[in-house]
Amino acid sequence: MINLNANYPIPTNPTWNVCDSSKFKAYTTCERMYFYRYVLGWRRDFPSHDLVFGEAWHRAMKRLFDEGFSKKTIEKAFDDFLAYYRTNFSEDSDLNYIPKSPGDALKALIEYVTQYERQDHWEVLFTERAGTVLIDEGIPLHFRLDAVVRDENDRIFVIDHKTTKWAASTWTEQFSLDFQVYAYLHVLHCMYPCNPIGGLIINGTRFFKSKIEHIRVPINKSLESLNAWFQEAQVLARKIKGDFKELSITSSAVPVLLAFPRRTTQCVQYMRMCQFADFCSVWANPLRHVGDVPEGFKIEWWNPAEKETIILAN
Ligand code: SF4
Repeated sequence: MINLNANYPIPTNPTWNVCDSSKFKAYTTCERMYFYRYVLGWRRDFPSHDLVFGEAWHRAMKRLFDEGFSKKTIEKAFDDFLAYYRTNFSEDSDLNYIPKSPGDALKALIEYVTQYERQDHWEVLFTERAGTVLIDEGIPLHFRLDAVVRDENDRIFVIDHKTTKWAASTWTEQFSLDFQVYAYLHVLHCMYPCNPIGGLIINGTRFFKSKIEHIRVPINKSLESLNAWFQEAQVLARKIKGDFKELSITSSAVPVLLAFPRRTTQCVQYMRMCQFADFCSVWANPLRHVGDVPEGFKIEWWNPAEKETIILAN
């Protein structure tokens, strides 16, 4: 646990003690990015279309997994999609977001049902369930499983819905070593210790201008590999704690902030410059500039703990 009572040079926030896969991934990408996003809570002050579209798609998938495949559930799934999507993006903007617009989503839902209605014979055990699993003493890892299913051979699978416009084969390959995939498989083993574990299935939908593709990517890991992930996650948790400790003994008076250092090999991701690049280019010690949230940013605390329903020991 991070000691929130230590003498930090900035206001503390309870979410500092909330860990999930996104935070771990951000930390491994760049510690300074983690600092801006999760220690200061800085986010862009406009909605990310990819995130909103992805969340809306998850809501539509939940409906299909909960109620099965039919014309009626496609309509309900699209209603669920729109109910969330329209809270962020109006009809006026739809043409700007092709091939990930509501029209594309409806077409994708119809094609999804056509493709999988004769193939999916699994039993859906539950959808959209959040919880925690302990990865170290006092360090719960928060998770949200999109769906868990059992096949005809009693094997348990976790289903993870993903959408993308990315055409390269690396889109599917990237999941093989993904932190979140390991975390979900670990959770599955904790939840179903007596069942055969089939693994994780990426339930992917790729939106291109010319077509929509639904693909499923099965991933499974040996217990040895999961153990390696588990121990690495513990090391990461300790490193994050170490950076908070460093933060607690520094101030805006020192010339350079050593806590949460910059990892400048990561500044370009997916052909885009990091949103914090302007700050990293000129601020040796960001603590001198954190009094005012920069233009174009707002403070929003990421807290996956809000939706939790399951608590697991490791
Ligand atoms: S610009 Fe580079 S160093 Fe700065 S937060 Fe982003 S990835 Fe890290």
